[in-house]
Amino acid sequence: MTTRFAEPMSRLIEELRKLPGIGTKSAQRLAFHVLRSSDEDARALAHAIEQLKRHLRLCSICNNITDVDPCTYCTNPTRNQRLICVLEEPTNIATIEKTRGYNGVYHVLHGTLSPVNGVGPEQLRIANLLTRAAALAAESEPSEIILAMSPTTEGEATANYIAHELHRAHPALAITRIATGVPAGSDIEYADEVTISRAMEHRRTL
Ligand SMILES: [Zn+2]
Repeated sequence: MTTRFAEPMSRLIEELRKLPGIGTKSAQRLAFHVLRSSDEDARALAHAIEQLKRHLRLCSICNNITDVDPCTYCTNPTRNQRLICVLEEPTNIATIEKTRGYNGVYHVLHGTLSPVNGVGPEQLRIANLLTRAAALAAESEPSEIILAMSPTTEGEATANYIAHELHRAHPALAITRIATGVPAGSDIEYADEVTISRAMEHRRTL
């Protein structure tokens, strides 16, 4: 309960409580920290949040977080636009880029299928992946969609669902899954470069 605080304090605590992983106690601690910080720091925090919302959006092609739409990966002529690596979160792009061995483009789902948490296909960015796949399938040059979700239960379920949808719509399209060089049950976010490189290299056709 936050009612014993002055109204502006309660309001900030309520807003902070909406952040992932922040409970009432943490929200109170953060709010008091802001209260005790300098006017300058508090204003810089508010300004950074405002600027983030004003200048960043999702790329309309790959759903990556970007300040230009389409993003720089989607418009880069030196990258293979016919090779799409499908990822769970925008932060996974940095993980793949670190390997320096991948020259295709990306598609960010913004989550994984999770029926228990009410996340179905409609909650993920799958529709525009199917649109991209249709465009690839319409041309005769070789193309490939790599499913690079984490080898967790939810990641596997998501990969299987997408592979099924893609195969059904475009039987000739190459669909691959990264190898299990990434330890089963772990998040690709925490895998090292060598492991990721190996997982990408030894990907298997679905
Ligand atoms: Zn993009």
